[in-house]
Amino acid sequence: MVLKEPCNLEENRTPLEMADLPTPVPGGRDILIRVSACGVCHTELDEIEGRTPPAHFPMVLGHQVIGRVEKSGIKAKALKVGDRVGVGWIFSACGKCKFCVEGNENLCPDFKATGRDFNGGYAWYMTVPEAFAYPVPDVFSDAEAAPLLCAGAIGYRSLRLTGLRDGQKLGLTGFGASAHLVLKMARHQYPRSKCFVFARSEEERSFARELGAVWAGDPAEESPEKLDGIIDTTPVWRPVLWALENLEPGGRLVINAIRKEDLNREYLKKIDYPRHLWMEKEIKSVANVARRDVREFLDLAARIPIKPEVQEFPLEEANRALVELKERKIRGAKVLKIGT
Ligand SMILES: [Zn+2]
Ligand SMILES: [Zn+2]
Repeated sequence: MVLKEPCNLEENRTPLEMADLPTPVPGGRDILIRVSACGVCHTELDEIEGRTPPAHFPMVLGHQVIGRVEKSGIKAKALKVGDRVGVGWIFSACGKCKFCVEGNENLCPDFKATGRDFNGGYAWYMTVPEAFAYPVPDVFSDAEAAPLLCAGAIGYRSLRLTGLRDGQKLGLTGFGASAHLVLKMARHQYPRSKCFVFARSEEERSFARELGAVWAGDPAEESPEKLDGIIDTTPVWRPVLWALENLEPGGRLVINAIRKEDLNREYLKKIDYPRHLWMEKEIKSVANVARRDVREFLDLAARIPIKPEVQEFPLEEANRALVELKERKIRGAKVLKIGT
């Protein structure tokens, strides 16, 4: 399924078209993967609607890919034909810059994204550098493993970036696919920490309580206790100010959003230094994922275990899955089942 040009999903509800492409040939350090499942992510909406557009067209989207190694390039020797692997948002990085050397290849100036800079997993086959494919723990089915590769891995990185220690208080603003996985991880990694969730719908709030949040309220509400770390996954600006107000001195707000929409951006002008920033409060964004995040998260998810609820669609119905995601018709993570 290929995207030929950016468009507005409200006007065009079938942005992707079925196309017959030649099976890609793996380069020396690449592997060819026969895809069996690919998760559907909000970032695909950002790509289709031009907020983070593909590098060229047509582009095969999809960056939560599960499949089996079909063929290896002559210099790709770590994986064997038939191995089950996953591919996430990070497709490749230069490997030489200071960020790559430190293991922060997500910050590499030459960072390339799966399904944006190179063809991704909405297809029967894809190639990827072998070093950017990960073995998938056996406890997960293909469909269960797919959504872990994005929402889960980036949630893991966000939680790590809060710098939280066990016993410190965590807040989550917005409670979608990533945040609900973060809550599960936090309960496991920081068993003495209390979690507070800020979400607009009562449905999301009661889900948060079910998963162990000690408190759940509207994003505009004042937190009953000040928080050491907050992760914001909303696409807008107003919750940023609310979150800063709820932070403890020395607390950190981590914004996990690839782009913020312009909606209610004017609230930023209301930032009040003593209320929102004074006392060493910090704001940090989280960008992409490094390989370490994906590997560590898959391992953690298998141990907890974290199994996402999934709703499956055949590849041919990718457009329907995307439109439903846009319209927030969400019953678990959407996953395309591909091939036989
Ligand atoms: Zn680099
Ligand atoms: Zn994603």
